[in-house]
Amino acid sequence: MITRLSHLFLRTLRDDPADAEVPSHKLLVRAGYVRRIAPGVYSWLPLGLRVLRRVEQVVREEMNAIGAQEISLPALLPREPYETTNRWTEYGDGLFRLQDRKGADYLLGPTHEELFALTVKGEYSSYKDLPVTLYQIQTKYRDEERPRAGILRGREFIMKDSYSFDLDEDGLKASYNAHREAYQRIFNRLRVEYVIVAATSGAMGGSASEEFLADSPVGEDTYVVCRESGYAANVEAVVTPAAEPQPIEGLPAAVVHDTPNTPTIATLVDWANSAGISAQPVTAADTLKNIMVKLRHPDGKTELLGIGIPGDREVDDKRLGAAVEPAEVELLTEADFAANSFLVKGYIGPKALQANGVRYLVDPRIGTGTSWITGADEPGKHVVGLVAGRDFTPDGTIEAADVRDGDPSPDGRGVLVSARGIEIGHIFQLGNKYTDAFEVDVLGENGKPVRLTMGSYGVGVSRMVAVIAEQQHDEKGLRWPREVAPFDVHVVIANKDDSSREGGEQVAALLDTAGLEVVLDDRKASPGVKFKDSELIGVPLVVVVGRGWAEGKVEIRDRFTGESTEVPADSVVESVLAQVRGGR
Ligand code: ATP
Ligand code: MG
Repeated sequence: MITRLSHLFLRTLRDDPADAEVPSHKLLVRAGYVRRIAPGVYSWLPLGLRVLRRVEQVVREEMNAIGAQEISLPALLPREPYETTNRWTEYGDGLFRLQDRKGADYLLGPTHEELFALTVKGEYSSYKDLPVTLYQIQTKYRDEERPRAGILRGREFIMKDSYSFDLDEDGLKASYNAHREAYQRIFNRLRVEYVIVAATSGAMGGSASEEFLADSPVGEDTYVVCRESGYAANVEAVVTPAAEPQPIEGLPAAVVHDTPNTPTIATLVDWANSAGISAQPVTAADTLKNIMVKLRHPDGKTELLGIGIPGDREVDDKRLGAAVEPAEVELLTEADFAANSFLVKGYIGPKALQANGVRYLVDPRIGTGTSWITGADEPGKHVVGLVAGRDFTPDGTIEAADVRDGDPSPDGRGVLVSARGIEIGHIFQLGNKYTDAFEVDVLGENGKPVRLTMGSYGVGVSRMVAVIAEQQHDEKGLRWPREVAPFDVHVVIANKDDSSREGGEQVAALLDTAGLEVVLDDRKASPGVKFKDSELIGVPLVVVVGRGWAEGKVEIRDRFTGESTEVPADSVVESVLAQVRGGR
C-alpha cells in the first residue's frame, strides 16, 4: 500500500521544541515521530510507530533465532512477588505504586524477574523441560528522577526483556553467551556503534554482567577504553591495579608539623614546598586526602566511613556508590561533626579514625610501604612520612577515586581514555537470587530437586529509536538505516504539472508492486518544502519526479551519502531495488 503524505497523520515542525536539548529529541519531535504527553511519557505518531515496530522486529527475529520464546506479561502487577524479593522497598522512588479499589497494593512493572521466575515455576517441573528462555517486548514503568531527552530516558518505555532458566552454571553461561551474540547481531543490524563493557551488578544482585553502550556524546554513562588492548569498562567497574608492597625498613619516622591555614590540598602542597620537607618538589599526589561519608545500610543503620585517596584525585560519586552498594552514601551534617569531635575538618588523618573505631578504606594505590603527608587530627597540623602498614593499617581498599585519561588499563596493556555512551542493552547472570526467593525447583535426573539458575537480559527498544536517531542524523534531519526506516523509498512529486504528478503516481505504483514500502509526497506544497520534509523525515532513498519526467528521467537521492543520480524513468524500479539491496 502506498502511503500518501496528503493523507498521512503528520505535521512537521519548523522549530525545535523548547524543552529539547539533544539532537534526537529535537528531530523526532520536529519530524512528527513522537509527541510529549507528560515528563518522560510520549505518544508514537505513525512515522515513529513504524520505526519502533521495525526495531522490535529485528529484536524479535534475533531472539527467536536463539530459541527464546515470546510471551507477554502484564504491566500491572501485584505487590506480593516484589515483596518476597524486597524490591517493593528496594526500588525506592523509582517504582510506580498504586492501589486498587479494595486498597490492595499494585505496581507498574519496572522489570519482571519475579514474574518470569513464577511463570516458569508454574509450568515446569522436570529437568527434561530445561533449559528455557522466555522473553517479551513490553511497556515498562520507572519513575525516573530525571526523565530526559524525549524517549531516551522515559518513565514509560518499551523494553525487550528475556530470562533464561538453566539447570547448572554451564547452562547459564551458554544462555548468557547466546544472548551476548544475539545482541551483537541486533546492534549490528541496527547499524549502532557500540562497545560492550563490564558492568557493576546494580540492584539486581548476582555476578557476571555486561552492558552494551552506544557511542554518543550525549550519553549519561561514562566508560573507559584502552585503545591498545580493546578493554572497555564502565567507570564503576574499573579496578585500580593494586600497588606492590614496598619495603618499610629504613623509611624516616613520621613527624607532625605545624601547618597553619592549610585545610585544602593546594594550601598543604604550598606549605610542604615552602617548608622544604623534601628534596623533590611535593605534589598533590604525595598527600593523602581523607573524606568522610555516612553509609545508610539497607537495615536503616548508619555508619561513618573514612575514605583515603591520593590528594590529586577526587572521589567519583558513581564509583563510590557502586563500591558500597547496597548501602547508600550520605554527606555528614554539622551535627555529625559535632557528635564526633575527633573529626577535625581539613585535618582528618587515619589515626583518629582508627583510634575511634571508624572503618577506614583506602584507594588501592595506598599500598603497604607508601609514605604520605596527611592530616594529624589537630587544627593546623599535618603529619609527614606517615607510612601505610607501619603507622596505620587500613581496613581494606575501595574503588572510589576518579578514573583519569592516561591511567593504566587493568589488563596492563596500555592506558585508559574516557568516552560517553548510552546504555542500549544489559546482560546479566543472576544465578539463584530469584529462584531461591520463589523456590523454583524441578525434579532432577536422579530424582532430587534441582534449583534453577537464571539470567536476565534487556534491550531498550524505544530508547533504540532515539539512539539510532542520535548516531545517524545530520543538520538537515533524520537519516534512518534501511532496516528500521519508516519507508523504503520516498517519492517526491516535484512539479505542479500534470505530467509530473502522473509520473510520480506511476513510479510510486511500480515501486509498491515491487514490494517496497513507499511514501508518496503528493501534497500541493512547493518542491522546496517537500525536499526539506524528505530530509527531515529521513527515508534512505528519495525518488524525485519533476520536470525531467517529460524527457523520461527521474532523480534518485541517497539520504546517507547525499549523492544524487539521474536514471531513465523506465529503469527506476531496478535502480531503486539495487540501491535498497546494496545500501545501508
Ligand atoms: P540506565 O542506566 O540507562 O537507567 P538501567 O541500568 O536502569 O539503565 P536496565 O534495568 O538494565 O537499565 O534495563 C535494560 C535496558 O532498558 C537498558 O539497557 C536500557 O536500554 C533500557 N532502559 C532502562 N531504563 C530506561 C528508560 N528510563 N527509558 C528508556 N529505556 C530504558
Ligand atoms: Mg535505570
